[in-house]
Amino acid sequence: MEKNMADRLLKWYDRHGRTLPFRGTKDPYRIWVSEIMLQQTRTETVGVFFMNFLERFPDVFALAAAREQDVLKMWEGLGYYSRARNLHKAAQMAVREWNGVFPADYEKLLSLPGVGEYTAAAIASIAFDLPHPAMDGNLTRVFSRLHGIRDDVAIPSVKRKLADIADREMPRQRCGDFNQALMDLGATVCTPGTPDCDRCPLKGMCNAYREGDADMLPVKAAQKAPKRVDMAVLLISCKGHILMKKRTEALLKNMWVYPLAEDTENKEQVKQAVKKMGLEPVDTIKLCDTRHVFTHRIWQMQIWHCPVRLENKTVAGQWFNLPEMAALPIPTAVKAARQEAVRIMLEEMQFVRLNSKRFSNYQPTAYAYWESWMQVNKDKGSPQFVKEHTPTYMEMVLRGHASAGRDVYSLQVGDKVVGVMVLDEAANEICTLYVQPDVQKMGIGTRAVQFALSHLDGTRDMHVTALDHVPQALRMYKKAGFVQVKDHRLLNKTYNVWETALVRPAGDKR
Ligand code: SF4
Repeated sequence: MEKNMADRLLKWYDRHGRTLPFRGTKDPYRIWVSEIMLQQTRTETVGVFFMNFLERFPDVFALAAAREQDVLKMWEGLGYYSRARNLHKAAQMAVREWNGVFPADYEKLLSLPGVGEYTAAAIASIAFDLPHPAMDGNLTRVFSRLHGIRDDVAIPSVKRKLADIADREMPRQRCGDFNQALMDLGATVCTPGTPDCDRCPLKGMCNAYREGDADMLPVKAAQKAPKRVDMAVLLISCKGHILMKKRTEALLKNMWVYPLAEDTENKEQVKQAVKKMGLEPVDTIKLCDTRHVFTHRIWQMQIWHCPVRLENKTVAGQWFNLPEMAALPIPTAVKAARQEAVRIMLEEMQFVRLNSKRFSNYQPTAYAYWESWMQVNKDKGSPQFVKEHTPTYMEMVLRGHASAGRDVYSLQVGDKVVGVMVLDEAANEICTLYVQPDVQKMGIGTRAVQFALSHLDGTRDMHVTALDHVPQALRMYKKAGFVQVKDHRLLNKTYNVWETALVRPAGDKR
């Protein structure tokens, strides 16, 4: 028989608890990572980040041994980057002091950097079944409604009162399930605003339901509005490189951003700001306005492109080419600026024809070809087949295309090779197009296809063949006007490799 709150709640949880990628484990490392991610981030958002993070850092030893920059990169898009920095420090501490074994001890867990009362309680209860309520926003809301707490829940004495109530209700067994059940109830039934009391297993014992004021609880004092800061984001570019700075300020510490200048709103002020950095701007072009809302601050940003003549190496900051920039941890706050920076760098992309008289060095391009080929095809053939595809073999393939009269292009941004393309003018065909793994999804393929369209003969049908296991390539060609003309062709039965032939009809004007 259901006697108390915990019985009712756990029964409900067994039927209605959420299935989440980070649930169903007793591994304290996985629970800790997920709980840190869940602070200030929506549960739906965390799933993919959690899987990717665990793939990269499968245990506390891998995380402790990583470079902070790589941890921040994996955190990119989650925001609140101090969480990632603390996670990294805490992993090092866990390895150093506990040999990587998390203790079944709330107080010791609390000593980890970035682990507060909530996180320590979540790990202690879920991993070790210790009776510690994890008082997050969900638990605060549910308990304040259940027990009719109508004082401001930010006041320390009210917080203590709620924690005491939660302590009393906590069962001696299934402590982790009890916390997770409350989290789920708060997320799906006892939601902020108007709760769905008809579906609530605790309706019969709920004060706020009886009093009819659940939507007014919990009581929270109005928060201070975030302060607006106006600034210019300077995209300072030179010869395929862009200037970036590593932040030393507490906000977004150790993340890379483009130079920021406050009180800089017009062309002249932007020019002066760039000059102050020891650089000579060729131009200052305003690109767009954007904003990012932090908890206590709003960055109201104007994005400016400032090409400069010379890369002054003594300037504060560092110059990066496109692949280098792609590898940096860059916060979402400057996401729009990052997109513009990529666009600017791609505008300077060069298509260097290797079989023209001036070039004979195929090696960097063959290497880029090999890296991209491996990424796409390493699981699509026998080990022998994959082993044969060395950079030297790829160079032979490219030279073979050149000797057959095809045009072999090295795709270059600044001083970096970012891909390879082979065009056959006689057959009016794109024979090969590969983009390096570290700069994919940046529009390089699309730029290359545009280049191909302008070099092939638009008065005849154009041809290309795409591998079915690279759906993004198929999408890209279709967007450029190519249509599928034949059924898929099976290339390798054992490894299930198929390809699709596409044609862009003669005279397509898009
Ligand atoms: S009855 Fe309504 S207000 Fe009370 S705990 Fe359940 S959902 Fe929340």
